[in-house]
Amino acid sequence: ISTKKRNMRIVRFTSSKYQAQYGWVHEGDLGVIEGDIFGEFRRLETEIQLEKARLLAPVLPGKIICVARNYIEHARERNVEVPETPMIFLKPPSAVIAHEDAIQIPPQSARVEHEAELAIIIAKAGRWIDTEKARQYIYGYTIANDVTARDLQLNESQWTRAKGFDTFCPLGPWIETELDVTDLLITCRVNGELRQMASTKEMIFPVTQLVTFISNIMTLYPGDVILTGTPAGVGPLEKGDNVEITIEGIGSLSNMVK
Ligand code: MG
Repeated sequence: ISTKKRNMRIVRFTSSKYQAQYGWVHEGDLGVIEGDIFGEFRRLETEIQLEKARLLAPVLPGKIICVARNYIEHARERNVEVPETPMIFLKPPSAVIAHEDAIQIPPQSARVEHEAELAIIIAKAGRWIDTEKARQYIYGYTIANDVTARDLQLNESQWTRAKGFDTFCPLGPWIETELDVTDLLITCRVNGELRQMASTKEMIFPVTQLVTFISNIMTLYPGDVILTGTPAGVGPLEKGDNVEITIEGIGSLSNMVK
């Protein structure tokens, strides 16, 4: 099967036969990918039903750069200024969990909230990337939940603690390699109740501008992840909740809260 990377849905998965294996999805079936998804690889014939595999986070990022206040309505609901340049912070890679893994509420927080976000996966190393060339550095997109201990965030000028707990970065379910992200619907439902709904066209800084801005600070590497900010409607998560984020053209990321 073709080694071309275009138009692909890429997963990392575990099954009875494979451990932490990259694969590609075709109509509900899964085939193994041999090689390096960021370099040379080939796709083998599909052989496993997608529903029989356990999905893992689609990348193990070296770093996760998050953009704050990238939707005007979210800045308004939080009563904070809309930034003139992108506001960024980092989440540790140890916070990443997969689709259907549990978000753990830490004992240090009494108010944990969901933030539905489009996530960019970086394709290749780059620094000082021109905005016109930024697309070449984007491998694809997935869905993220920028889980936040809001009470801690409000009391601390640094957000590392509020944003950095283990399980606070659900990512998945897969990477969509070919997607026009200029106008995609993002929704977030908690126990089926609609909490967030917006279009990516409402982003203040579009994805290409974010790649440029961040690469002017730090070298981006293959597998790095950029969380592009959340729209309005963030709200609390409680033990037993199910939080499901859907992005048009990608799919749904679903996690229970424990
Ligand atoms: Mg966020």
